[in-house]
Amino acid sequence: MGLCDIQEIKTILARHGFRFSKSLGQNFLTEQWVPERIAAECGVDENSCAVEVGPGMGCLTVELSKRAEKVAAIEIDRALFPVLGETLADCDNVEVVQGDVLKTDLKALCEEKFPGKTVYACANLPYYITSPAISALLDSGAFAGITVMVQKEVAERICAPAGTGDSSAFSIYIQYHARAEYLFDVPRDCFVPQPKVDSAVIRLTPLAQPAVQVENEKLFFDLVRAAFGQRRKTLVNAMGTVFGGKFDKEQLTEMVTYCGLDARVRGERLSLEDYARLTSAACALMR
Ligand code: SAM
Repeated sequence: MGLCDIQEIKTILARHGFRFSKSLGQNFLTEQWVPERIAAECGVDENSCAVEVGPGMGCLTVELSKRAEKVAAIEIDRALFPVLGETLADCDNVEVVQGDVLKTDLKALCEEKFPGKTVYACANLPYYITSPAISALLDSGAFAGITVMVQKEVAERICAPAGTGDSSAFSIYIQYHARAEYLFDVPRDCFVPQPKVDSAVIRLTPLAQPAVQVENEKLFFDLVRAAFGQRRKTLVNAMGTVFGGKFDKEQLTEMVTYCGLDARVRGERLSLEDYARLTSAACALMR
């Protein structure tokens, strides 16, 4: 049985009276090489376990099941459970858990299902929860690696080095906590129903320590958010909101130039180290 064969997909889903839900981001893979490659690249092996988000019909779940000691697959849509009962019938090491990944205590789930084990997260993520799902996986601290398929443009932004102009506040947050790698593209014609955008697979490897040492983490991310929230403004102008009028423009300019940056620089041109230096300069001025 080919779980990525389009005729097979239609036959199985019809047998269970299943209809795709656009609002749940249900675009199922129709090319076998994709789940095979995700499973191969995610890092899981016979001594470690995997958590999958959104198994759908189970094409990636089966590939993970072949490689991992055990797999837990979190699926929100109850209508897929009878389908998964059929497609995963031979996968003894898989447990399907009903739930919303955004409301699941992922650390507790891993400790309960896989005590003491190294766990990897894997997913063909539904587009509508890309950022919160990645944040939930990363913030849980439960995973040795997170390999996910997302919209191609999002993948490019997440992996773009900070300071190149292609990054975002979200990519800086990710690169602060993890090493981000762009693995491979997945064209839109690899799915049913076909989405309007292409996808790509990325791998995030959480860091033992944040990528840069920061004096005040909240202030660091406030500065990042302010800079990217007002991309067209210079950093000096965007920074004003962070300090609630405490510093005038001259002081803010001084803060920026003290860090070796041009007074007219935009936030998108700063590296993580620049933001860390800026945070320290602001902390010093506030003391
Ligand atoms: N893994 C399958 C594949 O690659 O063919 C399906 C991927 S499909 C893009 C996304 C899956 O995530 C669907 O099965 C959908 O029902 C499920 N899903 C959507 N929102 C979810 C959520 N909040 N928590 C868990 N699963 C969710």
